[in-house]
Amino acid sequence: MTPRATPYDILFEPVRIGPVTARNRFYQVPHCNGMGYQRPRAEAAMRGMKAEGGWAVVCNQETEIHPTSDLSPFAEGRLWDDRDIPGLRLMTDAIHAHGSLAGIELAHNGSHAPNLLSRAPAFAPSDTVIDAGFAPQARAMDKEDIRNLRRWHRDAARRAMKAGFDIIYVYAGHHMTIPHHFLLPQHNDRMDEYGGSLENRVRLTRELLEDTLEIAEGKCGVAFRFAIDEMQGADGMQAEEEGRGVVELLAELPDLWDVNVADWPNDSQTTRFQPEDGYQTKYLEAVKQITSKPVVGVGRFTSPDMMASLVRKGVLDMIGAARPSISDPFLPKKIEEGRIDQIRECIGCNICVSADSQGVPIRCTQNPTMGEEWRRGWHPETIGAKGREEAALVVGAGPAGLECAMQLARRGYHVTLAEAGKELGGRVRREAGLNGLAAWGRVTDYRLGDLQQRGNVDIFTDSPLGREEVLELGVPNVFLATGARWRRDGQGRTARFGIAIADNAMVMTPDDVMDGIRPGPGPLVIYDDDHGYLAGVLAMHLADQGHEVTFVTTANMVSPFTGLTLEQGRVQKSLLERGVTILTAQALNGVEASACRLACVYTGRETEIACGTALLVTRRDRVTGLYDELRGHSDLSHVELIGDAAAPGLIADAVYSGHRAARNFERLPEDVEQEYFRREITAIEG
Ligand code: ADP
Ligand code: SF4
Repeated sequence: MTPRATPYDILFEPVRIGPVTARNRFYQVPHCNGMGYQRPRAEAAMRGMKAEGGWAVVCNQETEIHPTSDLSPFAEGRLWDDRDIPGLRLMTDAIHAHGSLAGIELAHNGSHAPNLLSRAPAFAPSDTVIDAGFAPQARAMDKEDIRNLRRWHRDAARRAMKAGFDIIYVYAGHHMTIPHHFLLPQHNDRMDEYGGSLENRVRLTRELLEDTLEIAEGKCGVAFRFAIDEMQGADGMQAEEEGRGVVELLAELPDLWDVNVADWPNDSQTTRFQPEDGYQTKYLEAVKQITSKPVVGVGRFTSPDMMASLVRKGVLDMIGAARPSISDPFLPKKIEEGRIDQIRECIGCNICVSADSQGVPIRCTQNPTMGEEWRRGWHPETIGAKGREEAALVVGAGPAGLECAMQLARRGYHVTLAEAGKELGGRVRREAGLNGLAAWGRVTDYRLGDLQQRGNVDIFTDSPLGREEVLELGVPNVFLATGARWRRDGQGRTARFGIAIADNAMVMTPDDVMDGIRPGPGPLVIYDDDHGYLAGVLAMHLADQGHEVTFVTTANMVSPFTGLTLEQGRVQKSLLERGVTILTAQALNGVEASACRLACVYTGRETEIACGTALLVTRRDRVTGLYDELRGHSDLSHVELIGDAAAPGLIADAVYSGHRAARNFERLPEDVEQEYFRREITAIEG
């Protein structure tokens, strides 16, 4: 029987990319992942999973073509010489095994490459500073440098073909590569034929595209990744002005246009600052009117209706995705099979980016298997059948408890999930109620949607369990996901023994705010000694409620963690725009009834500021009372603490912890521990 036509059939039409054909319109654009040349097996397994999940094209990430483009210590792609080919071959084999095309994003990072390992000179169109590091500076390329660059790019293209790639990129985007720098007047003030007019600034890109097409010899597709708008208004390249001009000048040259916006924080905006899915579409609309070549675009697409409509309207030929493919590597398959409600939608939190920013393998809040495909052998859609007959009890329905319960149920266990509160979701539900974080609620929605469809799960709210209640239930496998609560005494990274707080002082914690308690009258001092995202979120939230906020932090900027998620600039700007007073490098020494005492973290010099209420964001205490009472009890076969109760961290950490417990609890701890030791280490031979 032929399957019934669906509105999404259009997404499963093949697309020709020069000499190669993608089997459908789902295109995983290049994205960093903290694995790269340092962890090629891990990357191969992760990319292979996307191919298995139905992405017709799976790309790697920016791939350094030469030691003068050295992004050390970060783990990007590397293709300096032939010895880098076997690592990349692992990836193309894994992608081809599922009938998908493999793409490689060749990159020369120019003044974005600090060359810390190679100690090579850095290159740029004009003398300039290095943007991803400190001294030394980058030097203006002479004609010989340009000839060398073209040779390195050709050599890398040849190696990419040997490694089995089907699509080879020329990359001018994110303010991160030499071709992009040549295109932009802010980076290029050359007086020769590579500077000045747009035709001249495009010249290097044209040469690189022609060179790559020549090497590809009609066997590989040649893609051009281009940032059409810098989102700086008239101060930068704009889609409707020179951005369009670039497309007109190169229209039919590449086999595919992969178009986005610059820089990376604009391209990968979080839902906190850009709640709209498909937010880049307005910049891409004109491209297809100019070129007949296929166009791929991104914008955190999660809705299949939007995807199909963009193709139907002639805006895009292929649906590009990095984050939606990380959150759900099986997104195309689920759409194809009509399992739309099973899509694990990206929440736009950029925890995936934060791992790359720290040079460690990728992780994802929604998809705990991301990055663990090789090391732990985790698959996002399959999990082993249960290893015992007895049922399981999960106490606490935050992200850890929900994930643990869902995975145990998928394994076939009968699961009882008990939550003390009236609603499910724990910290996710509470944090999603704060300014800008509504989309984080998808972490709860996805898991609850799954649990509620299963016949082997009983969910109880309003059910605070104590020792006796747990034992009365007679369920021998118990997972305690009882969470953590913010401290009220200021103890944290700076005040190891707490802060002097007067009896008549008004002090609050983030939990109070999330419980709906409002600060008292007078100035509100938010004290951030945590340095994560939450204090900044609370400041925006409470400023929007009309409070006069002073943000005091021991750090040198607001919410330094958010630099890793590409948000820090927007966070600080948002507070300044709301009139929040920001005091950096200040420790809170004491809270009185109407004032706070601060001390400079460098000199210790004390000052006093007016304060009606002090909101302390310092550190959390684990909730472990029930665990302490139950562990080792002879009636229970397994008692395990998971999530924030085991180690307070990100929501991603809580989900991961719940997942790991559900997969492994019947195994010997020492066997599970062995998975830490599955590493990719350089072998010293001879
Ligand atoms: P995590 O991030 O580890 O999932 P959360 O703080 O989000 O932790 O969630 C913990 C949840 O556990 C909260 O919703 C809390 O109400 C619930 N909880 C804590 N103690 C108990 C208990 N004894 N019985 C039932 N639920 C509990
Ligand atoms: Fe999306 Fe967050 Fe996962 Fe990244 S970490 S893919 S932004 S859910």
